[in-house]
Amino acid sequence: MTLTQDSSFLQGVNRSYDRAVSAMNLPPGLAEKIKLCNSVFMVRFPIGFRGRYEVFTGWRAVHSEHRLPVKGGIRYAPSVNQDEIEALAALMSFKCSLVEAPFGGSKGGLCIDPRKYDRDSLERITRRFTMELAKKGYISPSLNVPAPDMGTGPREMSWIADTYRSMHPEDINALACVTGKPVTQGGIAGRTEATGRGVQYGLREFFRHPEDVKPTGLTGGLAGKRIVLQGLGNVGYYAGKFLQEEDDAQIIAIIEHDGALVNDTGLDVEAVRQHMNEHKGVKGFPGGAYVEDGLSVLETECDILIPAALEAQITSRNAARIKAKLVAEAANGPLTFEAQEILRERNITVIPDFYLNAGGVTVSYFEWIKNLSHIRFGRMERRLEELRGTQFVQVLEEMTGKPVPKAWADRLKHGADELDLVRSGLDDTMRKAYQDVHEVLHTREGVGDLRSAAFVVAIERIALAYAEMGI
Ligand code: NAD
Repeated sequence: MTLTQDSSFLQGVNRSYDRAVSAMNLPPGLAEKIKLCNSVFMVRFPIGFRGRYEVFTGWRAVHSEHRLPVKGGIRYAPSVNQDEIEALAALMSFKCSLVEAPFGGSKGGLCIDPRKYDRDSLERITRRFTMELAKKGYISPSLNVPAPDMGTGPREMSWIADTYRSMHPEDINALACVTGKPVTQGGIAGRTEATGRGVQYGLREFFRHPEDVKPTGLTGGLAGKRIVLQGLGNVGYYAGKFLQEEDDAQIIAIIEHDGALVNDTGLDVEAVRQHMNEHKGVKGFPGGAYVEDGLSVLETECDILIPAALEAQITSRNAARIKAKLVAEAANGPLTFEAQEILRERNITVIPDFYLNAGGVTVSYFEWIKNLSHIRFGRMERRLEELRGTQFVQVLEEMTGKPVPKAWADRLKHGADELDLVRSGLDDTMRKAYQDVHEVLHTREGVGDLRSAAFVVAIERIALAYAEMGI
C-alpha cells in the first residue's frame, strides 16, 4: 500500500461531518451552513522585552452562532495554525450541542511555546492577546467565552478575566467572560479536574452498555482494564488518576513528550506526575522502563488506549499496528480521518473526542452560570439538606431503637457542596449524552459507529435551532 498524506485536522473533521450528514435528511444547503466556520480573526501583536521586540500571532475562530455566547478554549503551542483552530472551533459547536450546553462553538490559539517564557512575560503576552480579542468582540460574557486548553490553565484565565474587567469596569458580569478561572477568582470547584473526570464518567457509561462493549471483546467494567495513556497534562493526569484510584484500572504505559514509561504491573499516576513536575519529563522515573520512542508505545497491546495529548497521533502510518481493543479519544483529534477509517475496518471501537472530553465545557457552563448568578452552588440549600439528613437519622434511631452506623449517618447528614453538585451535574451530562448517542447508533440506518452517531445527535440539534430561528 502506498502511503498518502493524511487529511488535515479541519479536512478530517469535515469528512467525518459529511459522513454523518449522508445518514441524515437535512434541507439542501443547511448542512453546508452548519459545517463552515462563521468567522476567523487573526491578530499579530508585538511585545517588547528589554529593548528587543517579538511579534506573536494568534487566532480566534467562531464556528456556529446558533447559540450565544460561543465557547471554546485558548491554546498556547508553537504548532498552532488556522486550520487547527477552525477544526477545534467546529468540534466545540458539536460538543456543546451534544452535551446540551447552550453555546455555539469557538476556539483560539497563540503560536507560542509557553515553556520558553517566564511567568511575567507570559502575563504580558496573555493580557495583550486578551485586549486584541476583546476589542473585536472575541471575548465577552455574552458573545465569546474562552477557557483553558493545551498550554493554558487557571492562571492564564485569571489574567484574561482581570484584563477584560479592567476594560469593562461597569459590566457586573465581567467575570463570566472566561471560564476555568481559579476558584478564588470566580472559578468553580471541580473545573480543573473536569475534562479528566468527564473521561472517567464517559468510559463508565460506555461500559454500562453491553451491546456497545461486545464488539471490543472486553467484558465486565473498568476494573482491571489495562490502559495505555498518552499525555499526563491536565486531561490525561486526572483521567488516569481517577481511573486508577476509583475504578481499579491499570495504567500500564504513560507516553509523554520526552518518551514513555512502561510497567506491566501498573504505573502510579500520581508518582509519575510528581516526577514530571520535578524533572520536566518522564525520563528517570524509577517505577517503570523508559522507552525513548514514545510514539511506538501507542502500539502496545492493551484494553484501552487513551490519547490525551495532541492531535494526529494515530495516522495512516501507525493505525494498522494499534493493538488496543478500545480507543478513548480524550484529546481533540488524536486520530486522523484516515486512521479512523483503518480502525473502523479493523473493528476497533473508538469513543469520539467531542463526546469524551466534553467534561471541560460542561463544567465551564456551570462556572458561567455561577458567574452570572453571583452565588456559589449549594450556598442556599446545603445546611438545610444537612438539617434534614440529621433529622432523618434521629427519626430512624428513635423508631428502630438502634444507632445508625456512623459511616451511613455521616453520608445521610452530608449537605451537597459545590463540588458534589458539579460532579453530579457532570455525571448526569455524560450519561445522558452517551445514551442519546447510543440510541441513534442502534436505531438509525447508515450511522454505523459512535462518532457518526454523536455527529448526528449534535447536528440535528443545531439544524433544529436554525430551522426554528429562521436563518
Ligand atoms: P496540557 O498542556 O495540560 O497537557 C498536554 C500534555 O501532553 C503535556 O503533559 C505534554 O507534556 C504532553 N505532550 C506534549 N507533546 C507530547 C507528545 N509528543 N507525546 C506525548 N505527550 C506529549 O493539555 P490538556 O489541557 O491536557 O489538553 C490535552 C488535549 O485535550 C488537547 O487535545 C486539548 O485540546 C484537549 N482538551 C483539553 C481540555 C481541557 O479542559 N484542558 C478540554 C477538552 C479537550
